[in-house]
Amino acid sequence: MSRLDSFIRRMTSQKIILESLIDKVNEVDGPILELGLGNGRTYDHLREIYPNKEIFVFDHALTCHPSCAPDAEHMIQGDIRDTLAFCGPRVGGKASFAHIDIGSGDPTTDLATVHWLAPMIDERMAVGGYILTGLELKLPNFEHLPNPEGIKADRNFIYRKT
Ligand code: SAM
Repeated sequence: MSRLDSFIRRMTSQKIILESLIDKVNEVDGPILELGLGNGRTYDHLREIYPNKEIFVFDHALTCHPSCAPDAEHMIQGDIRDTLAFCGPRVGGKASFAHIDIGSGDPTTDLATVHWLAPMIDERMAVGGYILTGLELKLPNFEHLPNPEGIKADRNFIYRKT
């Protein structure tokens, strides 16, 4: 598969899964966490499909297209390893949904990331809340849900806090 085909498949899967979770996430109280602003593509989509949810966005820096920039209150800038543990007072309640898009493509870096990320994101999530992540996480307090039909299980993982 060419890199172009792979990119299209990844973006298509992300959009299908994000949209498949809308009704379920809306049943849970609490804000949304977007880990990895990047170009702002998924943040822009999240704010479109969740008009009634507050969305807090995490990244090292604000490097997205200007039309997708969160306001200052909702952009939590810095290393997520530092900011996620201390965002509680700003974010308020526990999250109904976290979208995690911080995979590096390097297997060793990603192994290190999942090691520190799993307990931190567990701490931030509401019971019943959902996580969509490109990195497989070991989350003992969560159930791993199947992807929507037709979406391969290797790149997107859906979890629900029990
Ligand atoms: N969701 C984005 C989009 O749709 O445009 C793409 C996100 S991009 C693949 C990954 C982003 O995660 C990068 O902008 C990178 O700076 C950020 N990132 C990765 N690890 C991070 C960390 N530990 N702390 C803060 N930001 C991080």
